[in-house]
Amino acid sequence: MHNLLYINGEWTGESLNKLSVHNPATGELISEVPKGGKKEAAAAVEAADDAFRTWSKTTAYERAALLKKLYGLMIENEAELAELMTREMGKPLSEAKGEVHYAANYIEWYAEEAKRVYGENIPTHDSNKRLQVWKKPVGVVAAITPWNFPAAMLTRKMGPALAAGCTVVIKPSSETPLTAIKLVQLAEEAGFPKGVINIVVGSSKEIGEVLLLDSRVRKVTFTGSTEVGKILMKQGSETIKKLSLELGGHAPIIVLDDADINKAVDGTIASKFRNSGQTCVCGNRIYVQSEIHNKFVDALTEKVKELKVGDGMEEGINIGPLINKAGVEKVSSHVADALEKGAQVVHGGEQPSEQGNYYIPTIIKNATNDMLMMNEETFGPVAPIQKFETIDEVIRLANDTPFGLAAYVFTESISKGTRIIEDIDFGIVGWNDGAPSAVQAPFGGLKESGLGREGGHQGIDEFLEMQYVSMGI
Ligand code: ADP
Repeated sequence: MHNLLYINGEWTGESLNKLSVHNPATGELISEVPKGGKKEAAAAVEAADDAFRTWSKTTAYERAALLKKLYGLMIENEAELAELMTREMGKPLSEAKGEVHYAANYIEWYAEEAKRVYGENIPTHDSNKRLQVWKKPVGVVAAITPWNFPAAMLTRKMGPALAAGCTVVIKPSSETPLTAIKLVQLAEEAGFPKGVINIVVGSSKEIGEVLLLDSRVRKVTFTGSTEVGKILMKQGSETIKKLSLELGGHAPIIVLDDADINKAVDGTIASKFRNSGQTCVCGNRIYVQSEIHNKFVDALTEKVKELKVGDGMEEGINIGPLINKAGVEKVSSHVADALEKGAQVVHGGEQPSEQGNYYIPTIIKNATNDMLMMNEETFGPVAPIQKFETIDEVIRLANDTPFGLAAYVFTESISKGTRIIEDIDFGIVGWNDGAPSAVQAPFGGLKESGLGREGGHQGIDEFLEMQYVSMGI
């Protein structure tokens, strides 16, 4: 397998300084990858721009065939991709396998959607004119991706971009470049022409500046923190880039008195503890109505005690390590802050041992609005629970945040569920469902959680321009 940059159909960067990729479970050095910068980013943009001229003229059927091949190769290489992901990122192997399939499904879905990009005929006001809307690929796309889903965050950008007829320059997270490089290698094997897909690993700042300031890049699609999203939006304003930003969340889980307790507990575990709590749609704060509160805390604690913490390569592990020391420190500081402000630990609340970036899945009760974990993403396996009385109160609590990505509501009442969902400002809602993401559905946030949608038939529009044509005949 390669561990190099891929620019204009060449594996390159041997002579550059290297960045090290470590296994967060063991600290072991897994690989060294060239650290690209401005020069490599500019070369990749140049290659993508050249390739766009011919790639954008291929038919949707040709592009679909290549995407289908890539899908097949991802499935064939499931085991290798999943192991690589677990080793560089830490998630349990079973979750990594799940992600490979989820990621491959984006490629397959957009192979199919490529064939369904329709223009429009508009009724004319003048018998000597014909009015039409043509759809065109937006141009060179820069895809900047995070470490928490090294495969899926890339394919949900690359799939629709390539299907639409765009070429791409990928900038993966420096924590997890290997899965992205392997995917590009599979794309090369599938037969994508040179320059259509390029990958540059290295300095975020340098590469980011080139990608955001070069006028040939017409679209930037990013998943990561709100903080970095704001920088990209400012930089992108220079050349009025089209932007899709998939940013931070702060998901509420709302459990009403009439909830089915099993659905609520299982859904909370699915949402809160997947990827050790390191997803932007993870429940971050749990609001439980007073009558069901104690029963819910007991039932959740019983199940959370069964979650096994350890190296994701071992059988039966549910909670892998956090990505790095900084991740552990953030979780620890959120827990310390909550305890100082009067919360109580029901389970966990500490690291299991000195070694590794592990944190015991934690349940905290008596959480209150003033605690850090009730106001910002913890990005770790900590479930803080706050009691509430009325529906109006919980709607106010849920909306009291600049974020608006995912929310979860557990109730058996159609009228109460409908009322809450209509009144909460979140782009994705799981109603009695802790895992709402699906390739065929639009994923994205409101407010400071982002712009645009990924997935679904809506996802390809982000990579298309409309051209209105008025034809005199
Ligand atoms: P996370 O906390 O999930 O790593 P970040 O927003 O820090 O989220 O990073 C997401 C992606 O954005 C990574 O690929 C990272 O290297 C990249 N990135 C970080 N800072 C910048 C920047 N100034 N310009 C462009 N990309 C950046």
